[in-house]
Amino acid sequence: MVEVLLAEGIVGRAIGRGLLDVRVHDLRDHTTDRHRVVDDVPFGGGPGMVLKAEPLFLAVEHISAARGAPAAVILTSPDGRRFSHGEALRLSALEHIVVLCGRYEGVDERVRTHLATEAISIGDYVLTGGELPALVMVDAIARLRPGVVGDEQSVARDSFMRGLLDFPQYTRPADFRGIGVPPMLLSGRHREIERWRRREALAATVERRPDLLADIALDPEDEALLQELLDQARSKPSERE
Ligand code: SAH
Repeated sequence: MVEVLLAEGIVGRAIGRGLLDVRVHDLRDHTTDRHRVVDDVPFGGGPGMVLKAEPLFLAVEHISAARGAPAAVILTSPDGRRFSHGEALRLSALEHIVVLCGRYEGVDERVRTHLATEAISIGDYVLTGGELPALVMVDAIARLRPGVVGDEQSVARDSFMRGLLDFPQYTRPADFRGIGVPPMLLSGRHREIERWRRREALAATVERRPDLLADIALDPEDEALLQELLDQARSKPSERE
């Protein structure tokens, strides 16, 4: 499941070029019984099965012995700290991380208390396993590593990088079924386009995620653009250039 997605796209290419090294470990390879059992019934009763502690401990010990102790052992869990751009940035600076994927009803709590260094959730919903969360994290972390996304300029301008959402993008044709694009983008006036984009990024953030503005320090130019936006909103509602 994980390997299929890791073989594709930008992450797949980065692995192929040696910019990232991602290893997938099957917990069944770290069992000690003949049937390679990784789950068991919960103590105290109740529905479902719980992922046993031992295969996870053995797997991490195997990884540590082979490749050195990881800088972080992350348990994927709906009750973990929420994954975000900030978390991706922090983790992208680490040399070696391990992501533990739960299944079934979850994982024996001793994994969390005695093996994982942290627990991360990708959002307030419950998935059937930790594989998709692991892939989401690997993808978001990978694209912050140098060289992974061809154009580093483009990563630097993405949503959240400056604490703001991205500005809207358009491509050809300039008229699609009668729907045009902002004339500014066709003007060829690069300095003005730059300013327009900053203003649109601010406008998108004000409109869709005003909570983000609380966490960032705007430079004087952004402050001025923000003021311009607010003035404009007051004079002619919902009509931006
Ligand atoms: N009973 C658990 C859910 C287990 S879901 C609970 O209510 O919290 C099975 C596994 O899927 C989890 O162990 C975890 O590894 C993964 N998982 C499910 N939802 C997730 C989420 N939102 N973020 C990260 N991992 C998640």
